[in-house]
Amino acid sequence: MTKLRFGLGFVAATLVLAAGTRAEECGSGVMLRLSAPETAQGTLLLAEVRSEKPLASITGKWGERGVPFWKEDAMAKAGSGEDVRRALLGVDLEKPAGKYPFTAEMELAGGGRASCTANVAVEEGHFATENLTVKKQFVEPNPEQEARAKAEQQRLREIYDTVTPGRLWDGPFRMPLVGDFKGSNFGKRRVLNGHPGSPHGGTDFPAPTGTPVHAAQRGRVVLAEELFFSGNTVVIDHGLGIYTFYCHFSEIDAKAGDMVDAGTIIGKVGATGRVTGPHLHWALEVEKARVSALDIVKLLGAGPKPVAVGR
Ligand SMILES: [Zn+2]
Repeated sequence: MTKLRFGLGFVAATLVLAAGTRAEECGSGVMLRLSAPETAQGTLLLAEVRSEKPLASITGKWGERGVPFWKEDAMAKAGSGEDVRRALLGVDLEKPAGKYPFTAEMELAGGGRASCTANVAVEEGHFATENLTVKKQFVEPNPEQEARAKAEQQRLREIYDTVTPGRLWDGPFRMPLVGDFKGSNFGKRRVLNGHPGSPHGGTDFPAPTGTPVHAAQRGRVVLAEELFFSGNTVVIDHGLGIYTFYCHFSEIDAKAGDMVDAGTIIGKVGATGRVTGPHLHWALEVEKARVSALDIVKLLGAGPKPVAVGR
């Protein structure tokens, strides 16, 4: 373990990790970099390990959870034997503020080990509170509706508990709508018809009913059906514990089990479930942390960065 150093002045090999990063030496020619030295509730961090020599194995630990790394051969210097691995660290939108260790442990292919720990400061998200009026059944569901909603929440928890080994995505993550749609409301604490609700785990994009919704990246559709609160819903498993969730569709254009590509139309914007008007609710779950979906486009996207308003 080495002392933390803030990464001013090191030359980052990628744009994403160029600003605000910090680097740490893990020994044996291995460096760990994080996309930001500190962060806030509901965000994603990108961790990158660069080893001068090939690695036999790598494991990450973020708090109590294991973090899977993936290999980025295209980012290694060609012919150098360099080995580049990346991982996403999700900071749940209700994770208490504080300092949390992220530890990476590596075994080198030719023998030898390296390890390092970065202590990541997590700040309060400063989410606004808003009052909304929705249909009475969504705030005071009858026993049958309540049982249905509970069973659906349990199913979603089981989906998110499943970490598919290996990545299914291939390339940059993209926005789910084409055009000038702005997302907002992520993390907002909500008061529904006067009752405090759970925090808003997605980003809302108001858009006309019928607007096509595109898969953010390649993956397997693991749920495509109508749910009580979210209405017509699609969930895509991208592998390594990364899931995108899209809902309130007027129409679902995918079915469970389908493999979809980045950009595949999976449904149309609508106003089904608990809504105040037509919009896309887009959410991201990374190893069971509820984080802003826009962050994965910022960290693993290409081209123009997403616009968030009212965060
Ligand atoms: Zn929403």
